[in-house]
Amino acid sequence: MIKLDSLNPVQKQAVLNTDGPVMILAGAGSGKTKTLVTRISYLLEEKNVSAHQLLALTFSNKAAREMRERIAHEVSMDVGALQITTFHAFCAKLLRSEANYLGLSRNFTIYDEGESKAIAKSLLERRGISTKEINPYDILTYIDSLKNNGYYPGRVMQDGGGAEPSDEFFGYFEEYESELHRANALDFGGLITAVIQLFEKFPDVLSRYQNRFVYVLVDEYQDTNRAQFELIKMLCGKRRNICVVGDEDQSIYSWRGADIRNILDFEKVWPDVKVLKLEQNYRSSKTIIEAASCVIEKNTMRKGKHMWTDNPEGDAIEIVECFNDKDEAEFIANESAKLYRAGVPYKEMAVFYRSNAQARQIEDALRKSKINYRVVGGVKFYERKEIKDMLSYLRLIINSKDSLALSRIINVPARGVGATSLRKLEVEAVNSNTSLWDIIEKIVDHAGEFAHIKLSAKIKSSLSEFVTLINELRVLDQNKVKPSTIYEKALHESGYYAFLKANKDYETLARLENLDELLNAITQFEDSAEVPTLSGFLETITLDSNTEFDEGARAVDGEISLMTVHGAKGLEFTHAFVVGAEENVFPSYRSVDSGEIAMEEERRLFYVAMTRAMIKLYITFAQGRMLFGQVKFNGPSRFIDEIPEKLYSWKKLKGHQEDRYDNSFSGGNYDPYDQSQESYYDSDEVVYQVKETAAQPPKTYHQPKFPKGSKVVHSLYGAGLVESSEGAGAEEKVQIKFTDGNRKKFMVKFAPIVLA
Ligand code: ATP
Ligand code: MG
Repeated sequence: MIKLDSLNPVQKQAVLNTDGPVMILAGAGSGKTKTLVTRISYLLEEKNVSAHQLLALTFSNKAAREMRERIAHEVSMDVGALQITTFHAFCAKLLRSEANYLGLSRNFTIYDEGESKAIAKSLLERRGISTKEINPYDILTYIDSLKNNGYYPGRVMQDGGGAEPSDEFFGYFEEYESELHRANALDFGGLITAVIQLFEKFPDVLSRYQNRFVYVLVDEYQDTNRAQFELIKMLCGKRRNICVVGDEDQSIYSWRGADIRNILDFEKVWPDVKVLKLEQNYRSSKTIIEAASCVIEKNTMRKGKHMWTDNPEGDAIEIVECFNDKDEAEFIANESAKLYRAGVPYKEMAVFYRSNAQARQIEDALRKSKINYRVVGGVKFYERKEIKDMLSYLRLIINSKDSLALSRIINVPARGVGATSLRKLEVEAVNSNTSLWDIIEKIVDHAGEFAHIKLSAKIKSSLSEFVTLINELRVLDQNKVKPSTIYEKALHESGYYAFLKANKDYETLARLENLDELLNAITQFEDSAEVPTLSGFLETITLDSNTEFDEGARAVDGEISLMTVHGAKGLEFTHAFVVGAEENVFPSYRSVDSGEIAMEEERRLFYVAMTRAMIKLYITFAQGRMLFGQVKFNGPSRFIDEIPEKLYSWKKLKGHQEDRYDNSFSGGNYDPYDQSQESYYDSDEVVYQVKETAAQPPKTYHQPKFPKGSKVVHSLYGAGLVESSEGAGAEEKVQIKFTDGNRKKFMVKFAPIVLA
């Protein structure tokens, strides 16, 4: 039996009204997510709905995982078959089964923003336009906005989806799309529009999914965009059992195309919708609720709602004025240690900042104080150079048409294929309407035909080695060899590892550690996935790293969480620090300059941040902070002014006068408040901790598996004879002479060889 006693009457209604459209609009912490979870449990347990008939859509993998755990707790059945997922992951999965309808193959690649940008750049280059004349981001913004509206090339839409063939960038859009298609790839926005296209063009496919998903639920509905709205509309067109929950005061993704019309139009599409409101907040103290309400009331573009709570008054909000950002970071380290000593576990504490770049300073302070922390999301681990390089190898293995991956690594490590040679090869690929890989493979095999492409013998031979390696790796993948083995082979035999190892600086050490970390990620994936394939691994990480989340952050006991406010949506912590509450920081300087609409979104963000706290809220700001390589004195955020004085205490910290700004800041020209420049991990300012190397385990001695004279079969090259053998165990190397007369050397560990 599902317990409904822990719900209030309106929440209960939302659970019991299972049939027909339902929309819950309610403030932060009013139990929207809890209600969704209970509704799913109720459907499963009381209404005997089968798990595969349910679809729940959330905004991040982490939110999806939390929901699944909560449901698993409440119901007696196995929740493995439940689809609780993000819009993007849902679409990716669906498209993998239906790819052939759209002329894609099921192993299509998902391109992230970096890759999209590379395409935009190459389109400009083809036209001979410099990135100074046209910023590739402007092209991407245009393309994004079309996709957010649900537009795909050729789609007929009432309002045109915002696309006009006369638009300056329309030609780029079309070319970009065909470029993706040629690479057998989709970008994030394209995942959604491809499903819309699929459903429109193939009504029988649509009706299959309409029949299957009897109940559909959407959390954080206020942050869906137009394309996602249309997707829901189609999917639920038949059964009509759609339940969405959201809070317009927490709409914080307008830059990603979130559309307030989705709330307004819901009632138009489903006129019989049951609209429910929840007003009681169960999360936060009276003080926090009152303060957050006072801030959000300053927004004019809202329907307005009353929030109240039965929770205790609680502590005053603590506003902390610091001398500079270093002191701010130290305050957080000291205060969290103090809270910990008083019995608050670290996992109940969180630090929220407006932009990722603010994290490093705080990380440094926590590390110095030996406090375990976790940077949630924005880590951009998968955006670090070495990680992207190795992922490109892996991507090329599963999709040879992935020309971006290929051009990224064709000369990494150096194979003599410089920018000019690469350009020649790319032009040849475009002219013969094929992929870069095909061209390279052909050149290696039939050099004569391509005499017009002038490449030295040395380049040709290194290209040939490269092609051989990738083909070998592909065979391993097809033979279901473990992804971690394939990764290790790629890392070592490509020469990438040796190439990094040749440098001895800190940065390289950190890079090598990151590559180890990637191996950990792959191994963890192997342990958790039912069928661990390389493409499966690549899919999880592409989808995970695009959200603002790093997975499982809070699950790890005893770590304080650091995250952007965007990433904090839906979460709650007993103790929360909102940092950098200064003008031009929070609100960001962009919003300060761009008028009321942007400012209201900024205020909603502040509201989201405040309402994460259950017991105690800290708001900190620095008098001076390094921005754009200069110390700026911004003054406290206007949002602090909007909190009634009676609700806070104000503490002014004494600064460390002596260390001022000389060595306490790293300087540099990056813009810490630019959402698009979050790769500060790559910069050499970061002081990496170097792990002490553990003592080497004693070597064990094995017999060689393939001693000289063994007859063997290699799955790519066929039968052969071992001519020489060296080493044993993981170190064993062999030279094989194949029946066609060719000789090749292999690391046995990595080679698909068996005794004949
Ligand atoms: P947000 O807008 O931040 O996503 P939400 O509306 O989804 O918030 P929940 O996260 O579902 O809110 O709930 C907030 C907290 O209140 C949770 O700790 C939840 O367990 C608790 N809660 C919700 N409803 C009730 C209730 N009826 N009785 C007791 N506690 C409740
Ligand atoms: Mg929620």
